[in-house]
Amino acid sequence: MAKNNFLIFTLVGYQCYNFLNYAGAYKTMKIYYEDDANLEHYKNKKIAVIGYGSQGHAHALNLKESGIDVIVAQRAGGRNYDLCKKDGFHPYEIEEAVQQADVVHVLLPDEIQKEVYEAKIAPHLSSGKALVFSHGFNIHFGFITPKNDIDVYMVAPKGPGHVVRREYLAESGVPCLIAIHNDASGNSKNLALAHAKGIGGTRVGVLETTFKEETETDLFGEQSVLCGGLVHLILAGFETLVEAGYSKEMAYFECLHEMKLIVDLMYEGGIHNMRYSISETAEFGDYETGPKIINAQTKETMKQVLTNIQNGSFAKKFIEEARAGKPTMKAIREKMKNHDVEVVGEKLRQMMVSLFKKKTVR
Ligand code: NDP
Ligand code: MG
Repeated sequence: MAKNNFLIFTLVGYQCYNFLNYAGAYKTMKIYYEDDANLEHYKNKKIAVIGYGSQGHAHALNLKESGIDVIVAQRAGGRNYDLCKKDGFHPYEIEEAVQQADVVHVLLPDEIQKEVYEAKIAPHLSSGKALVFSHGFNIHFGFITPKNDIDVYMVAPKGPGHVVRREYLAESGVPCLIAIHNDASGNSKNLALAHAKGIGGTRVGVLETTFKEETETDLFGEQSVLCGGLVHLILAGFETLVEAGYSKEMAYFECLHEMKLIVDLMYEGGIHNMRYSISETAEFGDYETGPKIINAQTKETMKQVLTNIQNGSFAKKFIEEARAGKPTMKAIREKMKNHDVEVVGEKLRQMMVSLFKKKTVR
């Protein structure tokens, strides 16, 4: 009897899984390409890119070279101001750029967007204009609440600004997300797709999501896997080897340098592609040891991290840190400069000059 019940439960469970998989809950996202987007929706409009940093310079230059009328707001005093002028833009004050523009793209750091928006953008954002973001943070967590007569949408490249620019020049692009928060004109999706096309996104593929999904998955990914998880995995591995008496150079190669080679294989063809390329010894070690390093407890912690993102407590903590002048961030940045993995890495990278011509931060 118990065995029969188990069988029934298993079959019902499997059918539920199939139902969810194929009946909508896990529906495949539509991907937009060149023919789905029309740059005409951005013609006869002036786009103001606010901030000429990592994303700002890439959006401004790519849109301009796609034939769009772009102006830039960039404050004086830093190297982005000089770069803005060198790239042929006149650096406007933010208020002035917003007054002139039809579409205002906010590419300032997330933690200062609220203050700048309230003081310099909102007063000049008249009815019918559009407001664009490349991350949903401020809209989703309610730090910025635009009026209802403004289109609010997102065009978020899934990659750093310098790669957005580099790929555009190589006649390719970086995959982008679009999302609509407020469709006052009824044309927001066309505007978002035109923007994505103008920066090269539709050359490779554009997915439509929501501000909520983009914000929460982006924060989760960077904290748990891409930045937080990865760096701490590297550090724990490096320190374990060095503390056991192995040389720092060997520890660096094993735990940091080779990371890129492995990730490249997964990027090209998934986990299977990487496992196909590595030795049988490495593959067996992966199966044997991987689940002990990243285990059920790690996943429980990830769930907690996700909850703190969803309920806004991470966002609140980050804004408080920023308002206090970022003391924790500055202290950790300083401390990490002297970590053995950084010191030995700098030395090794100088010895392998031809590999590292493309370093982004100098
Ligand atoms: P950056 O830090 O590279 O650039 C920020 C820009 O804002 C700079 O031009 C900076 O000028 C200016 N700025 C900073 N503080 C102020 C201020 N108080 N008043 C006026 N201007 C100011 O930002 P990112 O490009 O990294 O990020 C912009 C947006 O894009 C964010 O929403 C981010 O989440 C999103 N995004 C970023 C990605 C990335 O790869 N970096 C990826 C996807 C999305 P100055 O040089 O003078 O400091
Ligand atoms: Mg991200």
